[in-house]
Amino acid sequence: MNLLLGCIADDFTGATDLANNLVRAGMRVVQTIGVPDAPLPADCNAVVIALKSRTIAPAEAVAQSLQALRWLQSQQVKQVYFKYCSTFDSIYRGEVRGNIGPVTEALMQAMDCDFTIATPAFPDNQRTLFKGHLFVGDVLLSESGMKNHPLTPMQDANLVNVLQAQCDKRVGLIDYRCVAKGSEAIAQRIAELKAQGVSIAVVDALSNEDLLRLGPALQHMSLVTAGSGVAIGLPANWGIQPAADSARLPAAHGLQAIVSGSCSVATQGQVAHFVQHGGHAYQLDPLAWPNHTPAEDIAQHVLAWAAPLLPAAPVLVYSTADASQVKVVQDKRGTQQAGEHTEQVLAMVARGLVKLGVGQLVVAGGETSGACVQALGVTQMSIGAQIDPGVPWCHAPCSFASTGSLHLTLKSGNFGSTDFFTKAFNALHAGSAA
Ligand code: ADP
Repeated sequence: MNLLLGCIADDFTGATDLANNLVRAGMRVVQTIGVPDAPLPADCNAVVIALKSRTIAPAEAVAQSLQALRWLQSQQVKQVYFKYCSTFDSIYRGEVRGNIGPVTEALMQAMDCDFTIATPAFPDNQRTLFKGHLFVGDVLLSESGMKNHPLTPMQDANLVNVLQAQCDKRVGLIDYRCVAKGSEAIAQRIAELKAQGVSIAVVDALSNEDLLRLGPALQHMSLVTAGSGVAIGLPANWGIQPAADSARLPAAHGLQAIVSGSCSVATQGQVAHFVQHGGHAYQLDPLAWPNHTPAEDIAQHVLAWAAPLLPAAPVLVYSTADASQVKVVQDKRGTQQAGEHTEQVLAMVARGLVKLGVGQLVVAGGETSGACVQALGVTQMSIGAQIDPGVPWCHAPCSFASTGSLHLTLKSGNFGSTDFFTKAFNALHAGSAA
């Protein structure tokens, strides 16, 4: 195995987003759930270790990230990539103002790295950085929906300040004018900043061209910290070019199904589209069952509905509902309990569907995906072609599948076009035919 790039991602769907960008830039990528405990496929040259560390205390995030680093070091990766969200948010609780800085500094220390960058820019998803300020679409981060995020609010768009508040090391800026001049100018600016005692530089990027200019300047940097955007400029440093082959997955097999626990607006549209076009769909209403009904019992009922339909066409099982319906459920059952119980039911349904012969599974919803992947015992996924930005097909060993493996795609709430559910299966077959 020739592992070149080792990545540590602070959440699950963010890991898939990064893996997707690396595949599109030509790498063969495996995503693992936590630190790998089984050998990786021999032909992969990048690995993304998905942690769930974004909203945990800095000391715990540092410990988990260092454990992942130790594994990557044992594999002698050439470069380490710490991936965080393109809105640069992380834990914000009491006095704690984020864990990106502490994790970055701990990784630098463990790797004996004296300089790294920090840029969440992801122009394909409208995250751009100008003079150190992060824009979400046309507005500053601090004016975007992120200012009111329930867990990780972002009220300052100046990332040099945001990161400096989380770090002991000095934070500086490589601005858009320097980036526009190209990789030599960036390398010069890095030398200048180092001479001034700066150890971490926020880097402006307004476009993918900026990220591609940044790439060569990072060639000898042992640690890179970024959103998923910077990944597009790194594979070329190893002579890797975009190639259809990097997204190759084994041919798809088995029946098709969709499980959706996402209540995001985009998913609501996708469910409505599938139903309006005559798809077989089962709406799971959490209030239709007495409180505390075991998840397994509800799942059995759903699976009895699905079994006769499955051989003919994809089935959709969804709890997706609009905000007012969700509120009624939450008021009656409690927000956390309603969420966890619904996730459990859908996870049991996903596992049951796979036992019934489903080999191509679409899961909608970040938390829902986590529950389904866990119930399916999936610990490792090879990353294939992108269906829509940020959402690739994956292929995973799965002991519940009759063939021992499964194609699955995990769609985070607001991703994907309205026809995503049908488009996904079409894309899988176009991909495996190629
Ligand atoms: P997204 O990616 O859209 O945020 P998630 O799966 O991460 O989707 O989160 C959706 C949450 O809402 C999950 O905890 C899920 O169990 C819960 N949920 C799904 N359907 C309902 C419903 N009808 N009523 C209440 N909660 C629901």
